Amino acid sequence: MRTALIAGNWKMNGSLALVEDFARTFAEARLPAVEVALMVPAPYLDAARRAFDDTPLAVGAQTLHPEAKGAFTGEVSGDMLIESGARYVLVGHSERRNLFHEDDAAVLARVRAALTVGLTPILCVGESLEEREAERTEAVVLGQVMAVFDALEPDERVRVIIAYEPVWAIGTGRTATPEQAQAVHAAIRARLGEYDATLAEDLRLLYGGSMKAANATELLTQPDIDGGLVGGASLQVDDFLAICQSA
Ligand code: PGA
Repeated sequence: MRTALIAGNWKMNGSLALVEDFARTFAEARLPAVEVALMVPAPYLDAARRAFDDTPLAVGAQTLHPEAKGAFTGEVSGDMLIESGARYVLVGHSERRNLFHEDDAAVLARVRAALTVGLTPILCVGESLEEREAERTEAVVLGQVMAVFDALEPDERVRVIIAYEPVWAIGTGRTATPEQAQAVHAAIRARLGEYDATLAEDLRLLYGGSMKAANATELLTQPDIDGGLVGGASLQVDDFLAICQSA
């Protein structure tokens, strides 16, 4: 059985006050058997790790630089994220791919860097609206998955989490229907089965894109959806808690 993971992605939002707010609420929250993580901006990692000590919340980062150290002004390495308390890191989020021009090679380098230091990479994949309308969804999504998984060793593949996030559903209020999401998740799992049946059975596949309390249950009860990557609704502690409780 795969344990559900609900991961919040604050993006470049939030504050230390919001970190404290989450700590207070989650210290008293009753949750089902679910893992919960918050991807906070890097400057808040250490404060979040401390504040979440008595809560079920784990901490994650939103990106990392592939090199271990060096003259990369403004960048943060995987070791630094680990030292600051991160357990997870998002890699290949569509905003990184589109706004910061990270291609499949850049995504692979970051997945490798995460695995090297012991971070769990959450590999984000997803098609644009144009690609969906051209009926290229599976080709695009599986291409993004294979660009990473083909290059990894079997013992590395099992340490990755995949988040399917249709780009047209991110921040738009337009969620994929449970059927649309399930179909893509099933296709990803089937492709993983070509590497290894146990990998396909065990690897967690999250859905992201306008997930909120009102649609979480119908998405999370799909057989191949093992959790959520939640943007906007992870900035409201009550909404995020409600999503976690419906997992
Ligand atoms: P959203 O963002 O929930 O606001 O659509 C999801 C994401 O970008 O991870």
